Formats: sequence, structure tokens, C-alpha cells
Amino acid sequence: MRIGVFICWCGSNIKNMVDVEKVAEEVKSMPRVVYSQDVQYLCSEVGQADISKAIDEHNLDRVVIGACSPRMHETTFQKLLEGKGLNPYYVEIANIREQCSWVHSDKEKATEKALELVKKAVAKSYYSIPLSSDLLEVNKKALVVGGGIAGIQAALDIADAGYPVDLVEREPSIGGRMAQFDKTFPTLDCSACILTPKMVEAATHENINLYTYSEIEDVSGYVGNFKVKIKQKAKSVKADKCNGCGDCIEKCPKKVANEFDEGSSKRKAIYTLFPQAVPNKPVIDRDNCIYFEKGKCGVCQKICPTGAIDYEEQDEIIESEYGAIIAATGFDVKKPNDLAEYHYGNHPDVITSLDLERMLNASGPTEGKVVRPSTGNTPKKIVFIQCVGSRDRNKGNPYCSKVCCLYTAKHTLLLNEKFPGTESYVFNIDVRTAGKGYEEFYERARQKGANYLRGQVSKVEPLEDEDNRLLVRGYDSSLGEQVEIEADLVVLATSIEPKADSGDMAKLLGISSNEDGFFSEAHPKLKPVETQSQGIYLAGVCQGPKDIPETVSQASGASAKAITLFNKGQVESVPTTAVVNKDICSGCMQCKPVCPYEAISQEYVVEKVAGKQVKRPVASINRALCQGCGACAGLCRSGAMDLGGFTSRQLMAEVDIL
Ligand code: SF4
Ligand code: SF4
Repeated sequence: MRIGVFICWCGSNIKNMVDVEKVAEEVKSMPRVVYSQDVQYLCSEVGQADISKAIDEHNLDRVVIGACSPRMHETTFQKLLEGKGLNPYYVEIANIREQCSWVHSDKEKATEKALELVKKAVAKSYYSIPLSSDLLEVNKKALVVGGGIAGIQAALDIADAGYPVDLVEREPSIGGRMAQFDKTFPTLDCSACILTPKMVEAATHENINLYTYSEIEDVSGYVGNFKVKIKQKAKSVKADKCNGCGDCIEKCPKKVANEFDEGSSKRKAIYTLFPQAVPNKPVIDRDNCIYFEKGKCGVCQKICPTGAIDYEEQDEIIESEYGAIIAATGFDVKKPNDLAEYHYGNHPDVITSLDLERMLNASGPTEGKVVRPSTGNTPKKIVFIQCVGSRDRNKGNPYCSKVCCLYTAKHTLLLNEKFPGTESYVFNIDVRTAGKGYEEFYERARQKGANYLRGQVSKVEPLEDEDNRLLVRGYDSSLGEQVEIEADLVVLATSIEPKADSGDMAKLLGISSNEDGFFSEAHPKLKPVETQSQGIYLAGVCQGPKDIPETVSQASGASAKAITLFNKGQVESVPTTAVVNKDICSGCMQCKPVCPYEAISQEYVVEKVAGKQVKRPVASINRALCQGCGACAGLCRSGAMDLGGFTSRQLMAEVDIL
């Protein structure tokens, strides 16, 4: 065995805190290390050429790298070794950047630690064994979870590339949040005018199958071969018979709060989500239907001219297989009931920006008129409050919700245009306008008369005058004084949050979330649409706050990843899988339930005992399913389970060298 060691400076990232020359020099005394060198940038072309040259000149058959995280460049070095005719798993990486130079401030101690990390990697490489992947066939069908603009765009891109897509949406219609909006910034395009054609295109595309009023129940399998159970909730209306006349909706006697209008209007128990819904056929909301509550009514069935109402319809579980999954599950908007200082929920004229958006929408509860909910009159003075529940560690979410500055500017412009004479005041911490044309849009809002006050609002309180107006108390830092504004309407730009059940969805998909609950990408810069689970991609606000252009771009990025996977047709399995030593496996099967990927099953080996053939149970690993998490190896009491690339022998060698 001839080991070469390469210590990276990573520019000043490692070099400033670790004496890289010393580490490279000292490691030379280790057995089987025949070459050692420090290099300025190992991942660069020059750095890789240095490794390549050393392999040739010193006949190296193992390589140890002291550099950044293997998550960053492991495949770079593995490919280099493969190119030199060596097994790619003959490279070991000591992370002396994230785990050493970045987290320590004493150069001497950091150098000592770096040396220990490199020594451990050298000791591990004494026992490295060649590993190989299997090629797995890819099922060329995609699942998109969530039918908002992100899901629709992703589904259309994949379908246009010629691959079949199932688009699953829990509401009775696709469209998502964008369907609730009136206009979009910075162009003031009508939201429905852009969205509706896309919805129709998705619904009529020959490669797209829509599952509305449906949810994901179970996901198993692995990249290229996911098995998914979809629950299609009973709609109680036969789509093939219904002609969408809407007679049933008109006659239904039961009214409930309309969630699409944020509760500011009523809908019937049999309903379509909004006028341009796709599919445009009603569903019965069984939780609120008199027939399902009391066994009486049945008006819709009696009135339906086509006999489409079917109270007996059952939920259906659809099982299907996919090669790739795109999560586009969207977001919730915080209801600021817990922020008592704003009086939301206590005064009808304190509303959220989404409430205002619905009012501005011609198909909304007020048919496009902006009114004070308390009186129904047009408000004259409107106060907008930004960052409600955003950028606030103590009383809300620490992150910026990213779109509130621009949609508030949009609201002031629309008000100015539709209701000349209204006065708009915008309290803000600062205005963030990163995006093409956004700064100009904000400037336009100001030129058209929106009054921006830099400062926070301390309190909104009812004036208790005869008009039941509101007094907004705040601070204007540019004047350096407290200000009070009497308002007819107060609009709160509230925080964007992950879906309430996003944690459950993350568990189902086997992906991780950040501390705020948004799904985590595999790498924020290099893999922004991938997740740590191969074959599962992210699109839209489920990954973090973003505007519509960014959402659509990310959806196209996610679909491009799925299309690339389908075009390849095969995927390499993880080679660092579990391995059973059947000679010492006791067949206790304790490992089976701990495997999160259900990769372990029982099989039998036939042995001769005292001249007789006996069958003995042992564990068996499905290499296609195993993701190399190591849970089984950590648990096995017989020491029969090992992990390729991380065998017990290798781990013990790392410990022993210290
Ligand atoms: S009355 Fe019948 S056909 Fe008309 S929308 Fe209702 S279910 Fe469909
Ligand atoms: S059964 Fe009655 S309450 Fe239920 S959806 Fe039909 S009309 Fe409405």
C-alpha cells in the first residue's frame, strides 16, 4: 500500500488557522505514507494535476485529502482517482476546514487537531476496500406535490419534455395562492390572466394527470423507483356526469366561511374553490354538508339535471410508481391574532394584506371594492404596517418574508389608481426591493403619493369616535419623533410561514427542514433545488420565501433535474451500503425495524451441522433500497453488520491512532 497525503490551504480558509506545511511534513512519518504535500487549492485544476502527477510519480494507490467537507468535493477527488484507474473509494477526506480552521481561533491547537484528523484518515485508509455501485433503472414518471404556480410550472416542463406527470393538489382546484391574488408586481399584470391559461394547459396536457382533492399518504422506495400512495378524497360529484352548471351550488342551503376569501365571505357546502377553478366541477365538503351531518337534505341530488351527485362515493387510494418527486407544497400566511398591539381579530377594520388582496379582486368578496368591513364604506386613510411577525425574533419569525415590501407598494398603487383621493401611509423597518424592476416600482408607489414612514408601530387602538376609526401610534425615525395617524383601515403585511403540516410532509418524503420549518435544499448555492434524498426536488415557497418569478425559475430548475434523470434512464446506487457477514449473523433480525428504508429482510443459509443440512436465518440487504445510513451496523450485537466505506475495522483504526 502506498499512500499519498495532500493538505489544502483553501486559500486563507485553512492556511490562516492551520500550519498546513507542518501537517504535511509530520504525516510523512506515518507507516505507508510515501508522499505528502501541501497545495493552495486542491479542488482547482492545478491542485488536481498535482495529485495526478504524484500518483504517477510515486505509484500511489491510496489518497488522503486534508481539505473542506467531503460533501463539497468528495466526488471531485473520487472522479480523479477513477480517472487514474484506482477505485474511487480509495480516497479518504479529513475535514480540516469546517471541523477545524473555521471553528478554532488558536493556530497551534488547530494545527494539532488538523494533524489528528489527517492521521485518522490515513489510519482509516489502511483498511479501505474497493466499492462499486449498481446501475438501477429509472421509472420515467414524475410526481409533483402541490398545484400552485410552482407545481403547475414543474409539471408542464416535465410533460413538455415528453414524460408523464401526476400532479397532486389537496384543494378541489389547482392554482394555489396565486389564484387568490388580484395583480402581480412589478408589472401589475392580472394574476388570473397569467395563471388561468397555465392551469388549463396543465389540465388538458396529454402527459399530465391531475389528482385534485387528494393527498399523499405514503412514500417509500428510492431515486428512480418511488412507490407512493395517494388518497383521493371522495368529491361526491361524478366528474364524468357533471356539466358544471352550478345549479347544486345555488340551491344548497348550507353556508360556511369561505377559506379562499380568508373567511370574509360565505360559500356553500357544495362548492367550487373560485370561479376559474380547474377542474370546474363542484365537490361536497362533507364536514359541513347537512346530508352527511344529519342524513337529511339531499337538495343538490334532487336538483342536479345530470344525476352527478353521489353521496356513496368513497375515498380512493391510488398506488403509483415514480422516478422523481417534486415538492411544491406552498406556504401559509400568519394570522397575527397573537400580536395584541395590532388589534387584529378585535377590530373589523384591522385586516391582513391577503384580506385586502381578496377585496381588490373582482371575483373577491366585495367584487373589487375596498371597504371598511365595519361599515362597508370606502376608507379614506389607510395605514399599512410592514414586517408583522417577520424579522422579529421575540414575537414572530426571524426571517424576512421577502415579498411584503413589494406587495404593499402594489396595494398603495392600486388604491391610488382605483380610488383616487385615498391616503396611504406605510410604516416600515426598511424597504427591501431586490429584483428586476422592483426599486423602480417602489419609487413609482412613492411618486404616486404613498407616504413611507421609517419606523415601527407600537400600538393600534380603537378611537371610539362615532366612525369607530383607529389610532395608529408609531415612530418616524427620519423625523425623530412619535407620530399618530387616525386611520379608517389598517392593513398588516403578515409573515409567510411553512404549511402547518410541512413537518409531516418532510417526514413522508424523507427530507429535512430548517429551523423555521421550510424544506432544506441539499446545498444553498450548489444544489438549490435538490434535497439530501436523491430524486426529490424542491420548488417554490415550501423551500423559503420567494416571489413569483423566482418560484417559476426554481420550478423549471427542479423539473430540469427530473428530466435529466429520466433522460439518463439509469442511476447509480449508493455503494456505501450495509453488508452482512452471514457467518456470524445470528438471524435475530433486530436490525430490520431500525432500517428507515426497509432495506433489510430475512433469508436462509444452508449449512452442514453434525453431518445434517440445516437452514439458518440471516439478515439480507437490498442494495437498491439501502442508503448507507448505518443504523443497522450501529445496532447489531453480533457485529455482523458493517457499512461499506465505514467498516468497524476502519472506525477502530481511526480511534486507535489517537
Ligand atoms: S348540478 Fe350536477 S351537473 Fe350541475 S354542477 Fe352540480 S353536480 Fe354538476
Ligand atoms: S346534501 Fe345538502 S348540504 Fe350537502 S352539499 Fe348537497 S345541498 Fe348542500
